[in-house]
Amino acid sequence: MKLAAITLDLDDTLWPIMPVMDRAEQALQEWLEVRCPEVAQALPVPKMRALRDQVFAEHPELGHDFTALRKLCLRAALLPHGYGEREVEEGFEVFYAARNRVELYPEVGNALERLARRAPLVSLSNGNACLVRIGLSGHFRGQVTARAHGAAKPAASIFHAACAIAGAEPARTLHVGDHPEQDVTGALNAGLAAAWIDREGQGWQLPSPPPRTFACLAGLAEYVEGL
Ligand SMILES: [Mg+2]
Repeated sequence: MKLAAITLDLDDTLWPIMPVMDRAEQALQEWLEVRCPEVAQALPVPKMRALRDQVFAEHPELGHDFTALRKLCLRAALLPHGYGEREVEEGFEVFYAARNRVELYPEVGNALERLARRAPLVSLSNGNACLVRIGLSGHFRGQVTARAHGAAKPAASIFHAACAIAGAEPARTLHVGDHPEQDVTGALNAGLAAAWIDREGQGWQLPSPPPRTFACLAGLAEYVEGL
């Protein structure tokens, strides 16, 4: 393959997302305790999670836009207690700031440098992480989010949008991610090459042939340098 660009998933590919979401929920709860104590009392973290699940289920049309969904959750939590858009925006900012305090997997900083020397990198995420806030934007030519694009992986259109930003044909673009359907199957269906990051060693479970698989980004960087 003549490599022209690399598109990279973010959550669970560059950093683990579960601890980040736990900390973001906790930060929001602590903010509520100070700013909107009745809400904190009525909706401790487990109840806030249940509300989130309910709001997400009621708005499948916003499945690509976690920012809009989170704000809907905050409205559902805050408005019945007499709070308004100001508190919704403040609460979202508390959550979003914590959501962008990620801890990279140990090899990622070095691997991104190696990958970026080989081809332009474009991030391609269904989540709403901000590479500028995280401090990684210097490695990337551009950032594509499902929220900005209007559709989520595995839609072919979002892969093509990332290729366009990189100025590369899909056939010469390698997409890298942890999710079998959203990342691997989606990329292949959009005409890209795909590499799967299987950190847990779970093995390929889909009926399709197993993709090129790496346990972490160091192995991927070595592979890409050999292309
Ligand atoms: Mg992911």
